[in-house]
Amino acid sequence: MGTGGDEDAQIDAKTPVRLGKIIQRLIQYTHNKKLNLKNSPPYLQGIAIDIQDLVNKTFDPKSNPVAELKDNEYLGLAVQHIVAHSKKVIKLFKDAKEDMENVNSAYRRQLNKLTLVYSHILAEFRTIFRDGKFQDNFKIVKQDPREFWSRVFQKRVIVSWDEFMENFSVVHATRTHEERLALKKTIDILENNYVSWFEFDIFTRLFQPWAQIINNWNVIVVRHTAYCAFMTYDEVQAILGKHTNKPGSYVFRLSCTRLGQWAIGFVTQKNTIVQTIPQSKSLYQALIDGAQEGCYLYPKGEDRNPDIRQNIMVAPEEHIKVSKEQYDIYCDIESTFEMCKICDANIKSMRIDPCGHLLCKTCLTTWMEQGRGKRGNAPCPFCRVEIMSTEQIVVEPYKAPAQAAHKEDALPARPPRSSAPAPDLPPRVDRSSRPLPVPHGSGRPVSGGGDAVDPHALAQMQEMGFAQQTCVQALTVAKGDISVAIQIALQSA
Ligand SMILES: [Zn+2]
Ligand SMILES: [Zn+2]
Repeated sequence: MGTGGDEDAQIDAKTPVRLGKIIQRLIQYTHNKKLNLKNSPPYLQGIAIDIQDLVNKTFDPKSNPVAELKDNEYLGLAVQHIVAHSKKVIKLFKDAKEDMENVNSAYRRQLNKLTLVYSHILAEFRTIFRDGKFQDNFKIVKQDPREFWSRVFQKRVIVSWDEFMENFSVVHATRTHEERLALKKTIDILENNYVSWFEFDIFTRLFQPWAQIINNWNVIVVRHTAYCAFMTYDEVQAILGKHTNKPGSYVFRLSCTRLGQWAIGFVTQKNTIVQTIPQSKSLYQALIDGAQEGCYLYPKGEDRNPDIRQNIMVAPEEHIKVSKEQYDIYCDIESTFEMCKICDANIKSMRIDPCGHLLCKTCLTTWMEQGRGKRGNAPCPFCRVEIMSTEQIVVEPYKAPAQAAHKEDALPARPPRSSAPAPDLPPRVDRSSRPLPVPHGSGRPVSGGGDAVDPHALAQMQEMGFAQQTCVQALTVAKGDISVAIQIALQSA
């Protein structure tokens, strides 16, 4: 960070006041109306106010005694970083004087860059100290990277870049010094020579799957002409504005507002510019589909479009084996574990991360498109946890021991990956016409048999991870209404 030992970084009771003074000085510069800063997010003044607010909440002695905060490895670095970064912005304003009002000046471009990093500082701070409360549970969305981090860094929130690379390199080899420098630019979005699990999570979502992460990063960042790193909506409009006479011109960028997601901008056949965030599919799939549909043909307006199909190594899908217990539950209700519980017609083929719920691709796409346009991502249709990422999976039906080639254990906590092709799906069970209730619909049928619990509802709740006894109790109390039962089960969990 280069400012180690800075007295501003010492955490004590006066830290919020000291930070407040610096942030206020920065905010004063943003009051100049001629700057027109509010035109395009991220908005510097708003970020500074939010940081100040979060600092106040974090340092409220009623919720966090200073003695505790002092020991927090992350917070010390965060404070140091906020101070250093705010000073940088203030110095830029001082140097620029009226030049800052000119949106095309070098000062202004530099300010946009610093603002972006400032927004990342806030995003990280907000995630790790949500509403001023330290979050000691990791929220790394993808399973493999989550396991890597816990195995190597345990409960640590942040590690130095060198320490990170030392451990990362054991799993993913990098070839040259230049490659490692470029990688640092992508991972260390706060530009502070540290990697937090927050930054690591963003990186591993962008370039998933974990097994191919360096290859994917190379294809997308190092070699692809249309890649734009972090860029605002307006900056993309400006770049594509030069190519409106060439439909199919496109760029893709790291989203500033939805960190860990991509945004693609392109020129339509009507010479307008459209920007979208691919939902329920990876960037590679979106680029391949877009090229076939004639939307993404000319990276930054250039004629040659790289064919990423040859370069992207698609990882074998994760295979999820159905256990005997799961098989039995669904036999009782004349269904199967692998059947999508929303449409009751297709086989489950997608997993939602981080919650791990399974459903078919059609249902997922429809669900995510309906949830589009709102702030943030759509919630999981089963548990309402925000959908941060999705992954293609294959559900392997249960095989009775007699027909299985080798003995299979019950479903392990972490199903092993297999590159073998998915086994044949079982013949459709002849189903009764009774439809399965959808997870959050209303007018749930109450089981007819007095105290008996509806097996459909039971199976559905068990699939959400609740223990059988909890489900039975909750469903009984809720008189068969599954939405109510889920609420009860969640509260008792
Ligand atoms: Zn479905
Ligand atoms: Zn879920």
